[in-house]
Amino acid sequence: MGVAYACGTCGYDLRGLNALGECPECGRAVWSSMPSPGSEEPIGVSPSGVRMIGLTSILLSWTAIGGIVLGGVAVLMGGRLLKRARAAGGPDPRGVRAGVWFGFIGAVLGVAWLLATFGVLGWMF
Ligand SMILES: [Zn+2]
Repeated sequence: MGVAYACGTCGYDLRGLNALGECPECGRAVWSSMPSPGSEEPIGVSPSGVRMIGLTSILLSWTAIGGIVLGGVAVLMGGRLLKRARAAGGPDPRGVRAGVWFGFIGAVLGVAWLLATFGVLGWMF
């Protein structure tokens, strides 16, 4: 490796550690803090964070916009985490696939609420 990178959660110096291992300080998967191939940009969200955002998108789907925006974020972030895990040769990180599905459901429900709202308005006026 030789690339300087720090744990995205606690800032621990992860140089020389196995990408499939965990941060000795906080237990976060090492690969999730690594720069993605061809990019120095960190993802900035942990696998459990993706699941949390996805769940929140379902809870807020009745606001339409909340479900669509948060659902989209969960799907995008989760997709990037999965891509990076596969690039590092690791298994799919626990919870990320669920988070992507939650986000997808939240976004679909948000769109459904949006359509229902406009449908009701169109029927009333
Ligand atoms: Zn850490």
